[in-house]
Amino acid sequence: MQIFYTDEFVLPLPPGHRFPMEKYRLLREAVAAPGGVIGVRLGVPAPTSDGELRLVHTPGYLAAVIAGTLERRAARAIGFPWSPGMVERSRRSVGATVAAARAALDDGAGANLAGGTHHAFPDRGGGFCVFNDVAVATRILQREGRVRQVAVLDLDVHQGDGTAAIFRGDPSVFTVSVHGGANYPFRKEQSDLDLPLDDGAGDDAFLPAVARATEAAVEEGRPDLLFYIAGADPHEGDRLGRLAVTRGALARRDEWVVEACRSRGIPVAVVMGGGYGRDIRETVQIHLASVRAVAGLAGAPAG
Ligand SMILES: [Zn+2]
Repeated sequence: MQIFYTDEFVLPLPPGHRFPMEKYRLLREAVAAPGGVIGVRLGVPAPTSDGELRLVHTPGYLAAVIAGTLERRAARAIGFPWSPGMVERSRRSVGATVAAARAALDDGAGANLAGGTHHAFPDRGGGFCVFNDVAVATRILQREGRVRQVAVLDLDVHQGDGTAAIFRGDPSVFTVSVHGGANYPFRKEQSDLDLPLDDGAGDDAFLPAVARATEAAVEEGRPDLLFYIAGADPHEGDRLGRLAVTRGALARRDEWVVEACRSRGIPVAVVMGGGYGRDIRETVQIHLASVRAVAGLAGAPAG
């Protein structure tokens, strides 16, 4: 499986910033380590062009991000200090999802070791998301005629509000989100299917929601390509997730997504989404398990 990473493009953060930036490097190292993920080819993606970003984002927002002229409130909503490095990292992160999606169409599966920036709207970012990688990748591949129907299966603990808003009323993209109903973002958007869970829901509530979401993504979405946002933040050890889901249940989640797609020949591009474990090594292991599960699809006949 081809796997794309962007951790060499440094997004400078002040000391003590709450975003766990180092998880991306640790994840890449874990993937490449002996016994990490078998048969992977790691690659650095090209940056996404302005023209590609404009398939989703407004010219005004894009120009303000590039020039560092976002208003203070808009910049604070994103949560990263502006720098040229932030812009480059954000472009590469979208590029990695585009490359992972192309790899999925060629090989059955592809991965971005970052991405899942689902809180980005056409005209604003939020929650550590600058550009909406999955939305931009979808529009690029639709424009090229490589896909018609796309499904976004968002199993990060936070609702994919930007993605839902971008594709609302678009019958070519089916959006599904399983998330903490009381968690960020506090104003939810409407996906094609939303399955909100209570704080502390645990495996017994999480797994049936995952099963239903996965079924809907493949059966109602009828996708030519499925984006799987495999957030590590539903985990019980997460600082922000509050869902109290175990490692075992997250592994079953990954298996179910893979099985649903394997049996129907649907290519999968997996992106990582959030993960804010009190123990960062645990977050990395959860992401690694998701990548490994999806890698099992690579080489399968796609389509
Ligand atoms: Zn999240």
